[in-house]
Amino acid sequence: MRCPELAATRKTVVFGAGNADADLMFIGEAPGASEDEQGVPFVGRAGKLLEKLLEEIGLARSEVFIANTLMCRPPGNRDPQPVEIDNCQDYLLRKVELIQPTVICTLGNFSTKLLRGDPTGITRLHGRPEVLTLGRRAVRLYPIFHPAAALYTPSMLETLREDFTRLPDLLALGAPEQPEALEMPAVAHETREAVPAVAQAEVAGQSEEIDQLGLF
Ligand code: URA
Repeated sequence: MRCPELAATRKTVVFGAGNADADLMFIGEAPGASEDEQGVPFVGRAGKLLEKLLEEIGLARSEVFIANTLMCRPPGNRDPQPVEIDNCQDYLLRKVELIQPTVICTLGNFSTKLLRGDPTGITRLHGRPEVLTLGRRAVRLYPIFHPAAALYTPSMLETLREDFTRLPDLLALGAPEQPEALEMPAVAHETREAVPAVAQAEVAGQSEEIDQLGLF
């Protein structure tokens, strides 16, 4: 309901699907007609291609988690609008926070630009892993072409397939080095009783702030 236009025209909210403990998470663009009907991401032709490419590197769809930048279908499959991306982004980032993938594969421009916070396009970025810190966790971001684009351009399909073949090695690296945990000041742990009430309130306020940082 945060997104009145899309909420009015969609049939189903397509939350995302797959293994909630996955090391590998894919983020596409937005549901199309089939996804809107079934409530599951990537079930149309682009989804079949995604499944095939996964199979070729020895992975089943059930082992990964698949989500989209938007959870609702834009009417007529038009591009997501900035306000819609903004409306939906907290949900996406919370999914990333809960699933804790080590590798996030962004499919195409929309998810790549959103997560990197930068307008550089997928043609320049595809196939180059980078470490990205989202909230409190560092992940390996791996932008690749969107399978829907590759369906119609054979050279793009070849590039997508090549980029896919690098995924197993990337996954084998495991999680990147994590940002240093934010330590509570020693006084909060060790001498809480001895700290005057005002200082305790400050310390409590600080810990609340630390918790909120994790919520993007
Ligand atoms: N394209 C997407 O980006 N997501 C889907 O779920 C289907 C097609």
